[in-house]
Amino acid sequence: MQKNKSEADPEEQFCSNPDCPDYGKKDAGNIVKYGHDKNGKQRFWCNTCESAFVETKNTVFYNRELSEDQIIMVCKLLVEKNGVRAIERIMGIHRDTVSSVIEGLARHAREVTDFLIKNIGLTEVEVDEMWSFVKKNKRKLPKEARKQMDRAIAGST
Ligand SMILES: [Zn+2]
Repeated sequence: MQKNKSEADPEEQFCSNPDCPDYGKKDAGNIVKYGHDKNGKQRFWCNTCESAFVETKNTVFYNRELSEDQIIMVCKLLVEKNGVRAIERIMGIHRDTVSSVIEGLARHAREVTDFLIKNIGLTEVEVDEMWSFVKKNKRKLPKEARKQMDRAIAGST
């Protein structure tokens, strides 16, 4: 039996619903604990938008199929200019999943940039190169995602 050591704190959580008025706000008093999901992860409930979400350090790195660590690995492989097929081969993850992860990252390019620099220790140049590579490599990304990447590269943080 595995015990979940890190007992999650509602005050450290924020609503992961982008349409919620309290989206991304910590300690706004809207979050309560809400049982566990089937993987034993703490779930939370947002009283503002009345929806449930799973404990996560950064919502951008939450994906139904991949762990946060795996998504960070995808970022690192992108920095090293590995395309979707290379990532599929290296990580043994289907290319459709890789593509959807990349699209999710691109849509939140600003937050992802911040996270990779502050928490993972990548440099600004590396992250810029990652976005440039993604733009070249994945021409079919939605306009909105491309716009977010352009903003992140322009870097007015
Ligand atoms: Zn909410």
